[in-house]
Amino acid sequence: MVELAELIFADYPLCDWCLGRQFPSYRGKHDKIKGEMIRREVGVVRKEGCFICQGIMQSLNDFSVKTVEKLRDYEFDDFLMGATLPREVIEREDELRAKFKLRGGESIKREITREIGKAVASKTGKKVNFRKPDVTILMNFISGEVNITSKPVFVYGRYLKTVRGLSQKRRKCRECRGRGCKICGYTGFMKEESVEQILAQRLIEHFKGKRAKFTWIGGESIESVVLGSGRPFYAEISEPKLRHLDESRILKDQKGVILKEIRVADKKPKDKPNFIVTVSAHVGFEEDVDEGKLYALKKALQNTEVEVRSLKKKVFTKKVYDFHVERMDDREAKIHFRCDGGLNIRRFIGVSNSGKRDTMEITPNVSEILGIDLVCDVFDILDLEILNDKNGFR
Ligand SMILES: [Zn+2]
Ligand SMILES: [Zn+2]
Repeated sequence: MVELAELIFADYPLCDWCLGRQFPSYRGKHDKIKGEMIRREVGVVRKEGCFICQGIMQSLNDFSVKTVEKLRDYEFDDFLMGATLPREVIEREDELRAKFKLRGGESIKREITREIGKAVASKTGKKVNFRKPDVTILMNFISGEVNITSKPVFVYGRYLKTVRGLSQKRRKCRECRGRGCKICGYTGFMKEESVEQILAQRLIEHFKGKRAKFTWIGGESIESVVLGSGRPFYAEISEPKLRHLDESRILKDQKGVILKEIRVADKKPKDKPNFIVTVSAHVGFEEDVDEGKLYALKKALQNTEVEVRSLKKKVFTKKVYDFHVERMDDREAKIHFRCDGGLNIRRFIGVSNSGKRDTMEITPNVSEILGIDLVCDVFDILDLEILNDKNGFR
């Protein structure tokens, strides 16, 4: 081995790290110490520069200091290190190994990530995780930069909406169709407020994240309020700097949108749960309606199944429970019912949203049974009950 080291040294100056790494069977605490010991045995003094790394191994401490500094902004339990090296560095190491038939040594890249990982672990008290780390640190030895990305945080929550005229979802920016442009302030969304926009802003601020993506359990119209235990949702907050939830800060009322409940979830659910909604709708009749007709309506829709047919000819059924009508006058009534989640409320009442050709047909529906046209200016969600809990919904 001494002979081999001598041969290498004759042509290639190497730093102690890069020398030690070529001799995996030589014993020593780490490659720098090994390299130093080998160099002493060979009897050469350390030369300036290193054929393989050209000084990179000397900069490891700077990188770990920089990394720890950047990590101060993050809440995390574990991390993973990655490194981008100039291709020539790897090629030079390969070249040297091929020439001297050096086998079994670790690559310079692995050594760098492991060594900095050790330093970062000891300075932060956090551990390395190769599978799903909270943060991934990428050190770029070409640009000198350290880049941190973090695993998304998932939250499960329920919201109440106590004001009318606020849509549930954000609408994509008309200009850029969601890609982000000057007009939408590079958000990809229209500037008008919505439940989604209010919740997204609150979650992004809370977790110091970049974006929030929602999965809703059902939907309501712009004029509906949502009461009772609230509508459940899942949100994925990407690039969060913080990972814990401070309920006292987040459960506040803002512009009529109240987070009733929220908690950090392990992961995104695979499928949505079944649920039952309690609805109250205000309807207007195009003709006079008496008590008898309304009684017949109640009889017809109490605990029944309705058939939903979409334009694509998909047919499925939904159940309606506890159907009640409260007559206000000849032309007005309040309807209360519970039904399976996902039933289109307006279509079930029998009004089309736009007057265009309906994309969906529900039979029987309220208008059909009464045999008259209806208007429904508003329906409210009084409660929402989750049926299957296998995904951790409540
Ligand atoms: Zn070196
Ligand atoms: Zn835009």
